[in-house]
Amino acid sequence: MSGKHWPPGTQCVTKHDHTKPKPRELAFRKGDMVTIIEAVEGKGWYRARHNETGQEGLLAASTLRERGAIRVDPKLSLMPWFHGKISGVEAVQELQPPEDGLFLVRESVRHPGDYVLCVSFAKEVIHYRVVHEENTLSIDSQQYFSNLIDMIEHYMKEQGAICTKLVKPKPKSGMKSAEEELAKAGWLLNLKHLTLGDRIGQGEFGDVLQGEYMGQRVAVKNIKCDVTAQAFLSETAAMTKVRHKNLVCLLGVILHNGLYIVMEFMSKGNLVNFLRTRGRALVPTQQLLLFALDVAQGMDYLESKKLVHRDLAARNILISEENVAKVSDFGLARVNPKGADATLLPVKWTAPEALKHNKFSSKSDVWSYGILLWETFSFGRAPYPKLALKEVTELLEQGYRMDPPEGCPPPVYALMKSCWELEPGKRPSFKKLTEKLQKELKHLRDI
Ligand code: ADP
Ligand code: MG
Repeated sequence: MSGKHWPPGTQCVTKHDHTKPKPRELAFRKGDMVTIIEAVEGKGWYRARHNETGQEGLLAASTLRERGAIRVDPKLSLMPWFHGKISGVEAVQELQPPEDGLFLVRESVRHPGDYVLCVSFAKEVIHYRVVHEENTLSIDSQQYFSNLIDMIEHYMKEQGAICTKLVKPKPKSGMKSAEEELAKAGWLLNLKHLTLGDRIGQGEFGDVLQGEYMGQRVAVKNIKCDVTAQAFLSETAAMTKVRHKNLVCLLGVILHNGLYIVMEFMSKGNLVNFLRTRGRALVPTQQLLLFALDVAQGMDYLESKKLVHRDLAARNILISEENVAKVSDFGLARVNPKGADATLLPVKWTAPEALKHNKFSSKSDVWSYGILLWETFSFGRAPYPKLALKEVTELLEQGYRMDPPEGCPPPVYALMKSCWELEPGKRPSFKKLTEKLQKELKHLRDI
């Protein structure tokens, strides 16, 4: 028994060369990426598709490894070539010795808000002013870009109005290229295999599109703003550390149009819409309990990895074709550039100690889980109906708690209330919540 259980869609890296495959086997080289199609019954073999060649075939589990996690590292940059406010003279020094196509970008000292693209060519350094106007960037007033990442991507492919195609970025000292690190670890996907379809959602930071990657249905979050994309790297890094049936799975990222985050496709959308559109008539209590259990299990796993969600709410739970609930958007609170600004917190979901003293923990996630339970059993109602944000905070301190949703089983309401203990230490763990929900489900089946 290898102990490996890779579900369809898992991305794996090959550990060595296998260039002379037997019939039905897959050929590959060390470090190639493959997508698991299915396990071959009882053999420790898998059928998989090669991500580059698209070929399908068999390979032994022992030749595969999972991808390594990306470390959350402030030095990891989507724009390692961005040097900030340095002078033209300093830029020239950075680009020594000369090499055609070696480049960097700096902030313009003379024209605040503009940038300068500095390119080494024929032993000289040429400085191109990048004019920043109405949220667009342009060097020649013909080609316009919405951010620096796109502009650099373009001029690495096409020379356009500048002296040479950009060839090699000169990284700012101490900065590591996120693209290289992601590629090394196996998290960088290939744009040519991605087909994009309709828009299925609108996030705070960008659209979510439906798509297909190597024959698998996917959801793609596109973050266009370069600064936000950089911040999103930390969410993405958190997603590379985890794999659990109740956490939305990250396939990988593509650096194009800012950043594409490619995830497994959750065909039934978020839990709030799921419940609102179907309602009491179509969703039995048992299904509500199963969703609640799924979320508790996903959160128990996150807790075991020492990850705090900070934005647990029914809107961030997605439902698969098979009605499995999965947690998404973990690490998002840290992405919010104004994260420290208490006015932007989801007040009605956030534990009092987190709101007041910024004390986020798995126990503050448990408080939010209580609100999520309430949303679930009220079929997607917004919590604390009719109460203003300010009133909620005050009333909670005085001991007020929401009433049970209509038809909510008393033991489930008792669970909610236990999540809403003012003292974080008195709240149950996600493990305890899992056990209680399992008991409740069993009880429901027995009657
Ligand atoms: P935000 O950045 O605002 O948190 P979300 O990640 O919550 O954005 O996505 C917004 C919406 O897009 C979700 O409510 C959901 O309806 C849809 N969506 C997001 N991810 C997926 C996915 N993996 N599969 C299907 N739909 C998704
Ligand atoms: Mg969200």
